[in-house]
Amino acid sequence: MSSRSKSALVRPGSGGFTGQASDDLTARMGRLIQGGKADECWPWIGARSGGYGQLVFDGKGIMAHRYVHEVMIGPIPDGYHVHHMCMNKLCCNPLHLVALTPQAHMREHAGLIRDGVYKRAS
Ligand SMILES: [Zn+2]
Ligand SMILES: [Zn+2]
Repeated sequence: MSSRSKSALVRPGSGGFTGQASDDLTARMGRLIQGGKADECWPWIGARSGGYGQLVFDGKGIMAHRYVHEVMIGPIPDGYHVHHMCMNKLCCNPLHLVALTPQAHMREHAGLIRDGVYKRAS
């Protein structure tokens, strides 16, 4: 598979990864994220699972947006969900991601549904 995206967009940060972070995994993730400007969505161009970007590493499926959160923002508290504020499930822009409790996440989504359709937060 060829990729023209810039590599090394995702660099290990100070937050660490509670899963299985490695330079190899981070490099693979970086090649599958189409990076852009800070205010743009950075779409995942690799495999998907349930509409989310996923990479199989060491026999385990790793959610792309959760990995980006852990590496670039910080560890995800136990049981927390990572919500896309842009409502784009494939987006890997850390500025568009936020860790929420499952309850807060449900409220967030319920508040964004209008006429059965998700509306982007403005
Ligand atoms: Zn986005
Ligand atoms: Zn969400």
